[in-house]
Amino acid sequence: MLASLFTFRGGVKPASHKDESSHIPISPAPLPDLLVVPLRQSAGGAPQARVQAGQRVAKGERIGAADGEFSSAIHASTSGTVLAVEPRPLPHPSGLSAPCAVIEPDGEERWGERVPVDYASESPEALRGRLRDAGIVGLGGAAFPSHVKLRPGAAGRIETLIINGAECEPWITCDDLLMRERAEGVSRGIAVLRHIASASRVLIGIEDNKPQAIVAMRAATARMADVEVVPVPTLYPTGGEKQLIRVLTGTEMPFGRYGAEYGVQCFNVATAYSVHRAIDLGEPMLSRIVTLTGNVARPGNHEVLIGTPIDELLKLAGPKPDTDRYIMGGPMTGISLPRVDLPVIKATNCIIAANAALFPQQGPEMPCIRCGACTRACPAELQPHELYWFSRARNFVKAAEYGIFDCIECGCCAFVCPSNIRLVDYYRFSKSSIRAQEREKAAADAARQRFEFRTLREEREKAEKAARLAAKTAAGRRAVEGAGARPAAAEAATSLPPLDDEKRALIAGAVARAQAHKEGSPVEPTPPQAPVQG
Ligand code: SF4
Ligand code: SF4
Repeated sequence: MLASLFTFRGGVKPASHKDESSHIPISPAPLPDLLVVPLRQSAGGAPQARVQAGQRVAKGERIGAADGEFSSAIHASTSGTVLAVEPRPLPHPSGLSAPCAVIEPDGEERWGERVPVDYASESPEALRGRLRDAGIVGLGGAAFPSHVKLRPGAAGRIETLIINGAECEPWITCDDLLMRERAEGVSRGIAVLRHIASASRVLIGIEDNKPQAIVAMRAATARMADVEVVPVPTLYPTGGEKQLIRVLTGTEMPFGRYGAEYGVQCFNVATAYSVHRAIDLGEPMLSRIVTLTGNVARPGNHEVLIGTPIDELLKLAGPKPDTDRYIMGGPMTGISLPRVDLPVIKATNCIIAANAALFPQQGPEMPCIRCGACTRACPAELQPHELYWFSRARNFVKAAEYGIFDCIECGCCAFVCPSNIRLVDYYRFSKSSIRAQEREKAAADAARQRFEFRTLREEREKAEKAARLAAKTAAGRRAVEGAGARPAAAEAATSLPPLDDEKRALIAGAVARAQAHKEGSPVEPTPPQAPVQG
């Protein structure tokens, strides 16, 4: 049955600039002199280093173990010697550093153990574990651990698998080339993903401006039952996960919910290809296809080892002298790199050399004229100008109320804004401020709970101590009074609680010893007793 298409509101049509790099076949990037492999390259916990300086490593050897279920392993991209495990700057706008394994390649490309498996004979749980240990994360940009996305929802399975080949952002062509050249591998990865998800159908969404990729994927999946390649309209951001799910299934996904809860999950085509290599060949994620384009002499797509320095890679493309900055990712959602001696990471799909002609400087920000263009362009059906006002006023409560976390940071609103307002920057500021406030609140709550627990414990210990003391005192008094054959009526009149057998035995022993001592005859010592609890 042919899938019917749904639409989403908004979206924009920027110039595609795909032709610059889409006509040249993928070629391998050369082995660099040094690889800098960040230990944390995905959402979730930071893998713990399993190597140290001076250690020799094999290609594909695990150098960082997944830290818990919500994390993904890291591997040596080639064989060589670990020179250091130390903080190095990462490709992030902040330029912040994080622990990396610095590897000097030996040029031998000496593989460690590779264990291919027959996916059909493995349980979904075992396969999810293999994907975690192979470091498989989403290659569409989010780098979310794939094994986590493959957890079954409440229904115990994911009914529909969406494979994202839309690649809607301008300039980027790595997925297009991958589908054209390696469609067979992508389809094998889809088969593994489908097996894990127990999905009854697979929809592969590809924008209709990639006819060769559509033909190649149709040929590769022709013999797979209930797998359909669906050309989708070329409209940015159709390739956004939520938007593609909406276009192909009509399902709306609210912020913070897993697709599996709605019986649908989405994986990028490059992720599917990595799944094929991990399961069918036993190769962890060591490389990815990266588009080099923009103001360069030789645009193209290269298979690049994770950890390759971007400045080394750029030599392949030959940036022109008037290049004034580099963008990692596309022009709509990418980041301006603070420097280029940074490593390629799993999320690096494209490097664009920018100059003033290709990317003219945006004019100065002007006041919002409430024209509503941003609202009409927003695919998340938000009111971007309201979010802007709340963010500007630091009214984060209101910003959250107006759904700022549903914003996918696609940049459509800023693209159409006649006032040149850097709207996405405001939203990022609001989101990070809200998250920081939540972290502070969580830390304060945890500290308060610790304090309250400690106070309670101290009070309880104090009460127990007082009770023990009272019991001891009472026992001693009764012992003395008992020795004087206190009348039963007098004993009943006391306010102390009645004695149990153990206390009576203790007191009787003490009385006997006192009596014996008085009479001058030794008695057998009483064995040590546990403290009498009051
Ligand atoms: S497009 Fe710009 S000027 Fe128009 S309403 Fe939105 S933020 Fe204001
Ligand atoms: S960046 Fe956010 S607010 Fe702006 S159009 Fe995209 S989803 Fe809407």
